[in-house]
Amino acid sequence: MVALLEPLQAPVDPIDALRRIAFLLERTRAGTYRVEAFRKAVGTLRRLDDDEVRERAEAGTLQEIDGIGKSTSGVVAEAVAGELPSYLASLQEKSGGPLVEGGEGMYAALRGDCHLHSDWSDGGSPIDEMVLTGVELGHDWMVLTDHSPSLRVANGLSGERLRTQLKIVDGVNRSLGGQFTLLKGIEVDILDDGSLDQTDDMLGRLDLVTASVHSKLRMNRAPMTTRMVAAVSNPRVNVLGHCTGRLVTGSRGTRPESEFDARAVFEACAEHDTAVEINSRPERCDPPDGLVSLALEIGCLFSIDSDAHAPGQLDMKAYGCERAERLGVPADRVVTTWDVDRLRAWASPST
Ligand SMILES: [Zn+2]
Ligand SMILES: [Zn+2]
Repeated sequence: MVALLEPLQAPVDPIDALRRIAFLLERTRAGTYRVEAFRKAVGTLRRLDDDEVRERAEAGTLQEIDGIGKSTSGVVAEAVAGELPSYLASLQEKSGGPLVEGGEGMYAALRGDCHLHSDWSDGGSPIDEMVLTGVELGHDWMVLTDHSPSLRVANGLSGERLRTQLKIVDGVNRSLGGQFTLLKGIEVDILDDGSLDQTDDMLGRLDLVTASVHSKLRMNRAPMTTRMVAAVSNPRVNVLGHCTGRLVTGSRGTRPESEFDARAVFEACAEHDTAVEINSRPERCDPPDGLVSLALEIGCLFSIDSDAHAPGQLDMKAYGCERAERLGVPADRVVTTWDVDRLRAWASPST
């Protein structure tokens, strides 16, 4: 993958300018509200024809269009006038550099991502925008992993909605003509007893399953261990998402690690070929260093994932790469460095 996107220079297409601003805001964790205006303006602009945009920019009437506000109209007007929008220029200066020092080698080796969300569940952007950004970042493949039904706060997908989504993923892949592969997936909730929050039939239609605990995070150690061992031993499960559930920073506050016998869980992961996710979100930073080292010693595979809820957050894998490299995880043990054929063969339950 490319380490950094090249800064945009004038002249720049207004839509490209707005998309890049949103990307830079998202990768540096700007508030959703601030980013939303730019994402919304992209959608609005795509529905207008270029002549109208130009005429309105010159006449100063862009803001009369629903979905275009003060700052977004300024960006569009400057772009239409052939200038590099000043907001974009300052953002490229301020937020365009590397997110973290270290992990560059691992980042360059990455080919894909096994954990990301679209606006079908609690992500902020449509599937095609996530894909387009993945392509621009140099990914070869990504697995779309929206939430499962019981996570209602995150608009988890019912079986019926998931079925519909799978048809859309087929359409996306047809339009990409093999240049990039969007794989079918889910972030399935691990229920209290270790069973999975989607029917076996639906899970069987997916290319890859990431399974995570989102409820009863404070369960006692023994039942939590049983719950997690059951999930990672399930032949449908390929990746164990953010295993401790901790939050270390961010707007949602902090949350302690769930208690479980990590050795037992990681031994089950190793035995059943389930990868341990290194969740790259700075607010999660999960598993903690000690557990990454334990999983490494036990012989587990890893998946360095973004858990992106917005396109720019796909780039947050830089944080996970820094951690993995510093902790001595070899790139070949990281499934997100594999090509799509190897990934598919590994994730298929028959192998
Ligand atoms: Zn999750
Ligand atoms: Zn997630």
